[in-house]
Amino acid sequence: MAKTILPASLDQVEEVTLETDILIIGAGNAGCFAAIEAKKVNPDLQVMLMEKAHIDRSGCLAAGMDAINTYMKKGRTVDDFVRWSRSQAGGIIREDLTISMAEHLNQPIEEWEKWGMPIKYEDDGEEYKSRGKWDITVSGSEMKPILAEKTREAGCKVLNRVVATNYILDGNRVIGAFGFGVRDGKMYIVKAKSILVATGGAAGIYKPYQADGYDSHHQLWYCPFNVGTGYAMGIRAGAEMTTFEMRWCATRTKDFNGPIDTIAVGYKTPMINGKGEKILEKRYAHLGGDAAPRFIRANVPMEEWRDGRGPCYVDTTGMTESQVRDMKYDYLNERPTFVLFLAARGQDIQKEPIEIYGSDPYIVGGHTASGYWVNVNRSTTLEGLYACGDVAGGTPNKFVGGCAAEGMIAAQAAAKSCEHFSSLAAISADLIATEKNRIYAPIFRYKNTGDGVRPGEMEERLQRLMDEYAGGVHQFFRMNRESLQYALRHLQILRDQVKYLISEDFHELMEVHGVIDRIDVAEVLVHHLLYREETRWPGWQTRTDYPEKDDSKFDCFVNSRLNRTTGVVELFTRAYEQMVPGDRLKP
Ligand SMILES: Cc1cc2nc3c(=O)[nH]c(=O)nc-3n(C[C@H](O)[C@H](O)[C@H](O)COP(=O)(O)OP(=O)(O)OC[C@H]3O[C@@H](n4cnc5c(N)ncnc54)[C@H](O)[C@@H]3O)c2cc1C
Repeated sequence: MAKTILPASLDQVEEVTLETDILIIGAGNAGCFAAIEAKKVNPDLQVMLMEKAHIDRSGCLAAGMDAINTYMKKGRTVDDFVRWSRSQAGGIIREDLTISMAEHLNQPIEEWEKWGMPIKYEDDGEEYKSRGKWDITVSGSEMKPILAEKTREAGCKVLNRVVATNYILDGNRVIGAFGFGVRDGKMYIVKAKSILVATGGAAGIYKPYQADGYDSHHQLWYCPFNVGTGYAMGIRAGAEMTTFEMRWCATRTKDFNGPIDTIAVGYKTPMINGKGEKILEKRYAHLGGDAAPRFIRANVPMEEWRDGRGPCYVDTTGMTESQVRDMKYDYLNERPTFVLFLAARGQDIQKEPIEIYGSDPYIVGGHTASGYWVNVNRSTTLEGLYACGDVAGGTPNKFVGGCAAEGMIAAQAAAKSCEHFSSLAAISADLIATEKNRIYAPIFRYKNTGDGVRPGEMEERLQRLMDEYAGGVHQFFRMNRESLQYALRHLQILRDQVKYLISEDFHELMEVHGVIDRIDVAEVLVHHLLYREETRWPGWQTRTDYPEKDDSKFDCFVNSRLNRTTGVVELFTRAYEQMVPGDRLKP
């Protein structure tokens, strides 16, 4: 590859100013569906997507999917869905958002099928093939390129390999976004009437257990390139955030960090401990055994290890030859390298079960409820800004269909709001100069001195700090007030060292901004973990100093907002609003 030619000075960094009606940040699942929907609402609207990678293979869908976890099957109702989602999330969800999402769940999946993604059918040829209560099986290896093609066909403009770095603000209103080109090094200034953020969740905040040095920093379960920039931009702009403390910690295949639903849900293989005992049946029969809420299932192997009953496995030894073949086919559709991993080990899973362990914790609003506080139109607390998919909070259990559905809901509102503007707001030269300096300083620091902190070094420090003091997998997800306060103090030290970050090229510059964004997300996360003085979701959030659930104080949403004047993260609660009757913990 040709060596990057770096600009000699900040003045030489080219600025590209663009205008559009709707700007969508993140051309993943939710972002693409939002773009297509906006064009359906009004074909005359200009829709632009800013994507840090390439739309054809970016985000969570990059390698494909083998299942759609949330599909409204025949006979099921929206209320059933709300009850199930509520029970899986320990009783805390935004029911208004869940209802509107559930009403749109099936549309994107049926569109994908029309566009060419194969979906498996039951033998009767009528219904999609079920995998679990709400899941259906798909052959989704090409679902992202298909979606990308439809987005382009709809007439949307895509800025590939442009990393968003900050919103452009006019008071409390978002009027566009700044970014830079990873390949061309240019600064992008995009003005828009409505802005939609769809950058996914945050990976790489915690150290994964299989970290064997910097080379393994991509060996995460969640998309490693979703580093929480959408959250960080919102935090810096003073947006209200919700439920960060409801982390997504999952049971994953050990030493690979791959999904296990494919095996455990798809082929009903039981989770067993080192003694061969079926853990869920034995210890969690009262919570439904294999149907126990998600947070219980994630924590189980960790508790077994901690209490001396590890290692743990999904017991594949009862699978038939054809089930093993089908399972590998499923993985080839979703996480193809897992098949290579098994082959490289020479592992015959009919003889040797697949080992499991906890993942590093993620902030993912499509699995749990962390993210922007939004209203039913997916409008955030910042005027002109909508959020959808994994970056939006309040609605756990969205997964593929729910993120896409939210993209559509957000786009309908964003497209409508464009009607109120006849022109775009002006951007002050000072604002541009400040952000330009912030973006490119690490390049000139490297050029001028060659000395400083590489983003990989800061990433390692951040991940170890969070792992050890803020309830990472090496601490069996446990934390207390003192460890969290330690984490906060040391996050501040890291923040003070951001001024030493250097980058040799534009790719490393992207990593610099990735680690800065993760520090901002980590700080808000630790504040949330400190605030919730109870243990509501063991594993996802285990406070050893408050081991019980405390409904009297915490049957509510924990929200936060960065006070932009004082720089302090302020925390407060919002009341729970139950709309669908029933016991909140029963499906
Ligand atoms: C390994 C894995 C397996 C899964 N399995 C299933 C399953 O079987 N069934 C199911 O239903 N769900 C599954 N999910 C969940 C589901 O895929 C996601 O919840 C959903 O697709 C997320 O959609 P999204 O649009 O929010 O994020 P994404 O599709 O990840 O899109 C985010 C986009 O934003 C871009 N971006 C990020 N930062 C920036 C920036 N600074 N500037 C510009 N662009 C940026 C990214 O490159 C990406 O394209 C799985 C997820 C993973 C990671």
